[in-house]
Amino acid sequence: MTRIAFIGLGNMGGPMAANLVKAGHAVRGYDLVAAHLAQAAEAGVSPADSAEACVRDAEVVITMLPAGKHVVEVVSGCLPAIPKGALIVDCSTIDPASARRVHEMAAAAGSPSLDAPVSGGITGAAAATLTFMVGGEEAAFAAGRPILEAMGKRVVLCGGAGAGQSAKICNNMIAGITMIGVSEAFVLAGKLGLSAQALFEVASTSSGQCWALTSYCPAPGILPGVPSSNGYKAGFAAPLMLKDLRLSQEAAASVGAATPLGARAAELYSQFTDRVPADRDFSGIIEFLAEADHPASG
Ligand code: NAD
Repeated sequence: MTRIAFIGLGNMGGPMAANLVKAGHAVRGYDLVAAHLAQAAEAGVSPADSAEACVRDAEVVITMLPAGKHVVEVVSGCLPAIPKGALIVDCSTIDPASARRVHEMAAAAGSPSLDAPVSGGITGAAAATLTFMVGGEEAAFAAGRPILEAMGKRVVLCGGAGAGQSAKICNNMIAGITMIGVSEAFVLAGKLGLSAQALFEVASTSSGQCWALTSYCPAPGILPGVPSSNGYKAGFAAPLMLKDLRLSQEAAASVGAATPLGARAAELYSQFTDRVPADRDFSGIIEFLAEADHPASG
């Protein structure tokens, strides 16, 4: 049993904290939104009334927050209250530079730290089947691994500080680009008079095979239980994909890497998210690409 402070109990953090409770840990939680805190309390998380109160006796502090600025703000605000030597783990998806800053702040305060973003979405968070991509020192990884394993099925040490975030944004750049490629193929197939099922049968066992096609097919009615078969309700909301694509573009610019398709994917997701509700799944971009008059066709 480990005393864990969990800050950020939203769509992902709520179920992740609940899984830590199920694994027998003593979890104290904090969120700015009272309703999220109340929901976590129903799952056995002890509610705290501030971030500082949340971390006070913790052996491990976990953050699951929207973006880098929130993580930097919360960790720097809490550091004086975090017991020296407690492990700090950020599971949010943030820019690698902010992630490294959090590592530096933690080290200066005498705490080991990990960046440990996740893949697997809200269903993975609920089922404790997330993949964790981890950056940090080996000793911190060894200490954090059993805690992460209570929330996921795969935990990979990717390298030093920030390496988890680097892996996450590279992976999601692949997912964004391939989702557009698969969607374009289905739109073209339809205009050529080829059925979506026929394209799926061929491409899923040919060189077009990829996760966006065979696990998350954007064409409706092909796979059960994916957003395309549920009116494109997220799932993984398009604004989150746009956020990750922008993070990958910032990272690419900072190191001079050429990512022309990543850049185009970010533009297309920006146009798409301007036109749809914020909870539209990222695979819904197929509908945007199918419109004859969308900005991308000009
Ligand atoms: P969310 O918006 O549902 O949850 C974030 C929570 O943080 C909210 O409850 C919010 O109230 C809380 N919060 C914000 N600022 C705070 C502060 N200063 N103090 C305390 N609480 C604060 O977002 P989410 O979907 O849970 O995503 C969290 C992170 O995980 C993001 O970085 C996201 O990119 C990443 N992620 C999300 C998914 C997904 O499918 N939703 C998948 C992988 C990774």
